Amino acid sequence: MEDRYFQTADRYVESLYEADGDLERVAESIRERGMPEISVAPGYGRLLTMLVRLSGAKRVLEIGALGGYSGICLARGLGADGKLVSLELKEEFAAVARANVERAGFGGKVEYRIGEALASLERLKDEGAAFDFFFIDADKGNYVNYLDFAIRLANPGALILGDNALLHGKTFDPGANGESARVMREFNRRIATDPRLESTILPAYDGLCIARVKGASS
Ligand code: SAH
Ligand code: MG
Repeated sequence: MEDRYFQTADRYVESLYEADGDLERVAESIRERGMPEISVAPGYGRLLTMLVRLSGAKRVLEIGALGGYSGICLARGLGADGKLVSLELKEEFAAVARANVERAGFGGKVEYRIGEALASLERLKDEGAAFDFFFIDADKGNYVNYLDFAIRLANPGALILGDNALLHGKTFDPGANGESARVMREFNRRIATDPRLESTILPAYDGLCIARVKGASS
């Protein structure tokens, strides 16, 4: 969010919306504990809620919970029988997320699974779990692995979202060749070209991938 035009535009847009107590409390709890301040932005969170609601997703999988900001946004879009499973490496982060999600009234809809997301995904696969909606927002070096798992665990028509597609410009900086940049380039290429997906990549916020897993007929 370095671009001045975008900052001013974002401030204008946010000025139109009422304060969101539950999400502000999440941001505050993250600051108080010195956790990384990398939750999705408010407008991005509203998009998550809308996409869950519009898609009618009943089973949502989040990879990377942090303090529960995106978790609350995803849970808000769920219907009465909807459920969110959220994978988080750090027990202390998952505890903060759980407390925030409970305070926002979604405790009964959200299940946290702690540990390496790849191990949790393997377990979900063994359990025969399937999801209608995925939000990938954890360690960037595993993004391609997370995409492979998401496609495997997807019901037909499922949505797969990936955050931080641009890595603050590193993704398209030819001089940046660290692991995250290399993996994100491959992730984005796969999002754009995998024949099993239809997709768009929005250069908004830090880059947002939205893909739909095609069904048998589309
Ligand atoms: N989606 C959150 C922000 C997630 S930040 C929101 O917008 O509110 C990324 C999170 O991924 C951090 O909480 C980090 O602890 C977690 N993470 C990093 N590596 C991970 C891994 N290997 N497995 C599971 N979670 C991981
Ligand atoms: Mg992110």
